[in-house]
Amino acid sequence: MLPLPVLEKARDQLVCYEDSGMSVMEMSHRSPVYDKIIKAAESNLRTLLNVPENYRILFMQGGASGQFAAVPLNLMTGSGKADYIVSGQFSGKAFKEAKKYGDAVCAASSEAENFARVPTVSAGDFRPDADYVHMCFNNTIYGTKFPYIPDTAGIPLVADMSSCILSEPVDVSRFGVIYAGAQKNMAPAGVTVVIIRDDLIGRESPLTPAVFSYKNMAENDSMYNTPPCYSIYMCGLVAEYLLSIGGLPEMEKINKKKAALLYDYLDSQSYYLAPVAPSSRSMMNVTFVTGDKELDKKFAAEADAAGLKNLKGHRSVGGMRASIYNAMPLEGVETLVGFMDRFAKENRK
Ligand SMILES: *Cc1c(COP(=O)(O)O)cnc(C)c1O
Repeated sequence: MLPLPVLEKARDQLVCYEDSGMSVMEMSHRSPVYDKIIKAAESNLRTLLNVPENYRILFMQGGASGQFAAVPLNLMTGSGKADYIVSGQFSGKAFKEAKKYGDAVCAASSEAENFARVPTVSAGDFRPDADYVHMCFNNTIYGTKFPYIPDTAGIPLVADMSSCILSEPVDVSRFGVIYAGAQKNMAPAGVTVVIIRDDLIGRESPLTPAVFSYKNMAENDSMYNTPPCYSIYMCGLVAEYLLSIGGLPEMEKINKKKAALLYDYLDSQSYYLAPVAPSSRSMMNVTFVTGDKELDKKFAAEADAAGLKNLKGHRSVGGMRASIYNAMPLEGVETLVGFMDRFAKENRK
């Protein structure tokens, strides 16, 4: 979901942006009016995430999956080694991609536990000469999240935050690179936000495609080629909206309340099972099953008919997944809990 006030503002500006005489979709990315839009988006994100001055914010393309390749191309160039924490499907894909470019190893994995918790890692788990350590902070499909930031003893930590960015404050200074596809919590699909520490820019392999080079993108203020103008504009509106409601501390309060409502219900009954270990629970993606595949199917279908959309779990894991990103209101979660309770009473196992 996107926040309703953001969609309404975008609607009001759809045909004609301010006094420009045109839609944001029609503007030249090199025009002064668009320059203001992209600069405002960056500055709002910087304020919102409290990004330190020695970090750059880049707007790139290719999604988080593009970053699975961009990260090794840009950073696996010192020792040529990189250590991956595999905590779910996306970090597994990132690891697989990195192996094309150098000596990537899996430093820790929770696959043996079906990714129902995140691995516990410490500095000793990583090769001291690794160029970086890669992790996925919130595992969208499994509904897990790291309750801690791993200690890497100074090795740059690279985090995929696609499904949790802007959901709560984060100490950016603990990371070398944070990247996120915008489409979960920031904007419509099309833009990928990369937050990178200055000293990590300029290390890329000569084979790095220009559009994936952090140095090239930083030197050109994310305008080496045509950026995804409209998604960046929407990203700016979302950031502006979040600032207006009190920033990420306020968003976190709301998100905690929503997640607690759902987890408290799950913990209070025995009809549904929540497979994730409580210490690894995600605040954004809540997974649960009935324990019966046919009932799971019925649940997703009836929920959909009742207006509760997209509750079917990822095709790779089945069951149900309630993605309660920033813009999902508390009432949405209340309605879901009411539906779950009714469904349990009407469909005895
Ligand atoms: C959705 C998601 C991705 C995939 O993003 P694309 O932009 O489709 O490449 C990667 N990582 C995480 C954590 C995600 O939630």
